[in-house]
Amino acid sequence: MSTTAPVTSPREALRAALFEAGFDVVRFARAGEIDSTGLNAWLEAGHHADMDWMVSTASKRGDPARVLEGTRTMIMLGVNYWPDDPVAAGQTAWARYALNTDYHETIKAGLVRAGRIIEEQFGVSGTDYRYYIDTGPVTERSWAAKSGIGFVGKNGMIISRDYGNWLFLAAILARIDVEPDKGLAADFPQTADRAGKVGLLCGSCTRCMEACPTNAFPAPGVVNARRCISYQTVENRGVIPSEIRFGIGTRLFGCDICLEACPWNRFAQAGRAMLLERRPEIARLTLLDLLTMTPERYREVFRKTAVKRLKLPNLLRNSAVVAGNIWAADEETRAVPSPGFAEPGDRDACIEALTALAAHESPIVRAHAVWALVRILGPATASGRLSGARGAEGDPIVLAEYPAAE
Ligand code: SF4
Repeated sequence: MSTTAPVTSPREALRAALFEAGFDVVRFARAGEIDSTGLNAWLEAGHHADMDWMVSTASKRGDPARVLEGTRTMIMLGVNYWPDDPVAAGQTAWARYALNTDYHETIKAGLVRAGRIIEEQFGVSGTDYRYYIDTGPVTERSWAAKSGIGFVGKNGMIISRDYGNWLFLAAILARIDVEPDKGLAADFPQTADRAGKVGLLCGSCTRCMEACPTNAFPAPGVVNARRCISYQTVENRGVIPSEIRFGIGTRLFGCDICLEACPWNRFAQAGRAMLLERRPEIARLTLLDLLTMTPERYREVFRKTAVKRLKLPNLLRNSAVVAGNIWAADEETRAVPSPGFAEPGDRDACIEALTALAAHESPIVRAHAVWALVRILGPATASGRLSGARGAEGDPIVLAEYPAAE
């Protein structure tokens, strides 16, 4: 969007003001019912895992008027979060969205400002609109596609022709009338028969689906959360299924693999970050830093970030899985870390840290530390090293990770 374009209509005046408020993409769609067939099928298949709130909000998601009666316009907003720091851009441990202060908070500040702009420009009150950033009963992805922010790729993400896969989405439901923008199919007449469908501008590409190491895509645009690394490392608070742990590779928190694979990222660019607070220092933590992290250091390093919600035991759990994959005895399945994250000279110290975690107060941490040590040292050596911990162990989920006695 150009800031120098002449402002000729209420719609363009609103777009310009919201852009000035920090939103990199501002698009409008007419509210109304939206096709929920895909969402309902996804829920019926159980692909939401234990995210039960997806079920309880499903009927509202089909029609914004069920969230805010009288909604006439959906204002769809995008915030570009591609990092401006080369280490943050190049690392493979963290989903890149996590390398910021919690975006719910920083973008909410922009939404508060956006609300005031709407009130001033349209003469409405604070009860005439409602905003959500990611956590409301709104299918942001579908509305973003309808408004032309991008298209839904086969990886299930909104893909922008200007920013690739790296947009946070927010939505404002408003009792105002704004001329809607067109979806992308309007610019690509040859795709008109696929308007609103998954993969509008994917062509024959399937790179994202093929890149997923845990086979989380049963069909284009359909993500099975149970097999998704992002779900397992962020949402799951229990044991990570053993068949998924290998595929996690070096991913500590979230996963960008199916985003990184997308050729539309050639348009990605670090942006204004007006509604972001970058935290590139997170990308500089080493695996040993993580395996030895104390509660005090955890609170300090991850203050106000999305990672803080994970809680330290789950971060230790994820770090143990990553350590097992990076130092695995089996070269064929060994994961390769990004530079500086885990150097060969760190191996012994990581093994010591894992041994300490095998006696951690959390059985979830103990279980994954044992798994990692068995993967790194092999069953016999790990059993010897862990004989004391095993003797004191009484939790069946941890005992299940120990090699069977000879
Ligand atoms: S990687 Fe290919 S198939 Fe996947 S979303 Fe991008 S263009 Fe579409």
